[in-house]
Amino acid sequence: MDCVFCKIVSGEIPSKKVYEDDLCVAFCDLDPQAPVHILIIPKEHIESAAKINSENSGIVAHIFEVAAKLAVENHLDAGWRIVCNVGADGGQTVLHLHFHLLGGRSMKWPPG
Ligand code: AMP
Ligand code: ZN
Repeated sequence: MDCVFCKIVSGEIPSKKVYEDDLCVAFCDLDPQAPVHILIIPKEHIESAAKINSENSGIVAHIFEVAAKLAVENHLDAGWRIVCNVGADGGQTVLHLHFHLLGGRSMKWPPG
């Protein structure tokens, strides 16, 4: 499968990994939008949040647990944001489920 994030999971494409376990991997975004910008992805290829169902939804809770730990490790006590872009209108460019963990600066709302 020609999926850049599956290739990061397998190690075929290099990444700056900050966390890994049996279910997920976290690595630094290539084009950071904040002082801390980490992507957390399931090892399993799931196209997007639109493909979450009762069989695979456990990974979402797991990823949020990992995000909370990474926020502490990165000293994001002042707050942080987790973003999941879905589909074309959502701004998703990589079709492998991923959560952006952003922090280290004040965030604006609403997003553009
Ligand atoms: P999205 O627009 O939500 O699909 O986010 C995809 C993100 O993946 C973007 O922020 C990209 O900068 C990031 N990205 C794409 N390829 C890589 C890569 N090889 N390593 C790290 N981040 C990547
Ligand atoms: Zn994939």
